[in-house]
Amino acid sequence: STPVATFCALLTAARMGVLVKGGDVLESLGEIKAVAFDKTGTITRGEFTVDMFDVVGHKVQMSHLLYWISSIESKSSHPMAAALVEHAQSKSIEPKPECVAEFRVLPGEGIYGEIDGMRIYVGNKRVLARGSSCQTVPERMNGLKGVSMGYVICDGDLVGVFSLSDDCRTGAAEAIRELASMGISSVLLTGDIAEAAMHAQEQLGGALLEEVHSELFPEDKVRLVGALKARAGPTMMVGDGMNDAPALATADVGVSMGISGSAAAMETSHATLMSSDILRVPEAVRLGRRARRTIA
Ligand code: ADP
Ligand code: MG
Repeated sequence: STPVATFCALLTAARMGVLVKGGDVLESLGEIKAVAFDKTGTITRGEFTVDMFDVVGHKVQMSHLLYWISSIESKSSHPMAAALVEHAQSKSIEPKPECVAEFRVLPGEGIYGEIDGMRIYVGNKRVLARGSSCQTVPERMNGLKGVSMGYVICDGDLVGVFSLSDDCRTGAAEAIRELASMGISSVLLTGDIAEAAMHAQEQLGGALLEEVHSELFPEDKVRLVGALKARAGPTMMVGDGMNDAPALATADVGVSMGISGSAAAMETSHATLMSSDILRVPEAVRLGRRARRTIA
């Protein structure tokens, strides 16, 4: 193996916007047989629109709810958080992160925060279990299709519901098609609900994904990446680091999203996409294949 050939290939990768951490990673890229994609912020843009935001019951007023939620969410770097903060701002409510007494991320579920003496959970239907009173999903949430649904629990009571939607990145379908043409299978892994995963799948043109797994905890993503490695061979995981950093580390090649992703993901991953252009994924594999031929 010649160091010069490796260096040139790494430079080429960097020029096309893929930071590859070393020659061994480059070689692994050329061996990839399967790719596991995270959904939110990876296959999708991670730019959510709040389609619905409602108060439930009479315990809190809309203005208070928006103030609490946006203040707590302003401490989160999840793509959904930004949309909720913007929604509050569009109703002239400014978040006050300095008023949040306690803040915790609940992976695969949402967030917890304390503000004005209230204990608040925001997240998917799993947070309903954080409530003490009867927490049935409100009627109005049943007809919603293709969206992510959110719930707000305040001191044990369901006080708010919302729905968010997000679209696939341009180039996502083409990237998966490219990979298929190279004999590489793609699967989708998400912490989001099945309906939201299905919405993404439809936007991708349906049949491109070999498997779709939803409602995953970070450890489920690790397990599924492991299963893919055992079944298909060398596996790449592409994710934004929101609840998928352990899966990125488990994959033969973990690829983080450099612009929208978290700093922790850039550290645990083996390569980083410096743009939101998901088409760089098959290109990087091609480069790896070429490098293997030249270096070997
Ligand atoms: P994905 O695997 O699609 O990237 P995540 O694992 O990041 O999804 O998140 C899983 C789910 O947890 C989200 O779909 C959302 O319902 C909920 N969630 C996570 N973080 C937040 C947050 N800051 N606010 C509200 N809901 C959240
Ligand atoms: Mg994600």
